[in-house]
Amino acid sequence: MAECLFCKIVNREVQSGIIYEDQNVIAFNDINPQAPVHILVIPKKHIPTLLDIKDEDRNLLFALQKVITDIARQKNLTDGFRVVINCGPNAGQAIYHLHFHLLGGRKMEWPPG
Ligand code: 5GP
Ligand code: ZN
Repeated sequence: MAECLFCKIVNREVQSGIIYEDQNVIAFNDINPQAPVHILVIPKKHIPTLLDIKDEDRNLLFALQKVITDIARQKNLTDGFRVVINCGPNAGQAIYHLHFHLLGGRKMEWPPG
């Protein structure tokens, strides 16, 4: 996906604060953090939205969950944290490459805006 910003981060064409990488997953600091910890965890594979996940991606989904919880533990988010996926325009999805926001380090409000 030549024009996808997050594919460019995966391919190191765009700089980001990468904090974790393996064969299938990458995690980096959000450029506009909404909490003391705000990390984006993404598949290296270009999947536009949550609605585009296929059965064949089940192992990838598990790997993403594992990276999120490993980072939450590493960052000592023992008082809780939030994981957000914005899907589609009404949710404010800006980048159409699946990503999980990991937010922590402060008390979260509910309901979200
Ligand atoms: P969305 O609204 O699609 O769920 O979230 C996109 C996120 O990507 C936003 O939180 C935004 O701050 C972040 N973002 C946008 N451009 C960049 C960038 O160039 N680098 C990094 N690290 N994050 C970005
Ligand atoms: Zn992409």
